[in-house]
Amino acid sequence: MSWYEPFTWLTDLSAPVTLLLVATIAYFYGRRRASGTGTPTVQSRRELRRAQAVASELENISELIRKHVAKHRATLHRFKHRVSRLGETNQDAAMRELFREAEDILQPTIQFAGQIAHAYDQIRQQTNRLMSLADSRTDPLTGVSNRRALDDTLGGQLALQARYRVEFTVAMFDIDHFKQVNDVEGHLFGDRILQDVARIIDDNARETDTVVRYGGEEFVVVMPETNLEGACYFSNRVREEIHRKLPVTISGGVTQAIDGDSIPSILARADTALYEAKANGRNMVFRHDGEHMESILEEAMVQAT
Ligand code: GH3
Ligand code: MG
Ligand code: MG
Repeated sequence: MSWYEPFTWLTDLSAPVTLLLVATIAYFYGRRRASGTGTPTVQSRRELRRAQAVASELENISELIRKHVAKHRATLHRFKHRVSRLGETNQDAAMRELFREAEDILQPTIQFAGQIAHAYDQIRQQTNRLMSLADSRTDPLTGVSNRRALDDTLGGQLALQARYRVEFTVAMFDIDHFKQVNDVEGHLFGDRILQDVARIIDDNARETDTVVRYGGEEFVVVMPETNLEGACYFSNRVREEIHRKLPVTISGGVTQAIDGDSIPSILARADTALYEAKANGRNMVFRHDGEHMESILEEAMVQAT
């Protein structure tokens, strides 16, 4: 076997194959980590955006690899041709020349192998970082954000509101009589309902909204640059869709940020509106504008559109 044979496979890789190889390794590595939690995860649009960022990074690395491979393919081809002719000539000068050439080729090839190993390390580290960042801010049962992400988002939005008067709204949802669902249908069924509710809320939300599992069967949505009317329209649409598609209903409370708000004060207002919806019969949404609270009536919603 020639010394260069272990490396010749590199010269046979086309750019798409290289990309596929690198992306597949990263994908399975990510999958292995995700499946470690032992719970299903909703593929949210936010996760998809993260994956796209990783893929584009992989594309850059594979392009670099492709360029290196193309350069070496030509050099190795020339060298193989010379070796095959050596048997015919058997001259000392030609031998010395070939050994020198072998050194020249070997040096960058070893360097290149090191670069590939380094690139894979970087990919692995990057995937690790992304996964742990996503893990620490994601609810494992439903795949939407958790309370840590909510605190960050609300903190950021309150700062923007105080500094630039950027408005935003908060909706809080709670599944009606969920204890009964668990008692009658079992906890696993209840878990599936939680996942379905999260998916419907997430599907209705905008890219810029943050959907959070706030408690056991409570969800919060933060909607930047959205006024109270818009947030009411969204909340009622979610309530209707859940009523139509699932064997449960939800109640909701909606409020917008007002001057002097803090994270607890804005959440408390949404919570007060939510429990007003519960007290008034459930499967409905109440709004709180900082002073008054009222029900969102379906007729009013239709007129608003
Ligand atoms: P209400 O309409 O007043 O909200 O009634 P409720 O029964 O939904 O309210 P309550 O707060 O009394 O019950 C919440 C229930 O949610 C308690 C628990 O059985 C259920 N729950 C909380 N977390 C989970 C979870 O992770 N999985 C499942 N399956 N159930 C959960
Ligand atoms: Mg509750
Ligand atoms: Mg409930």
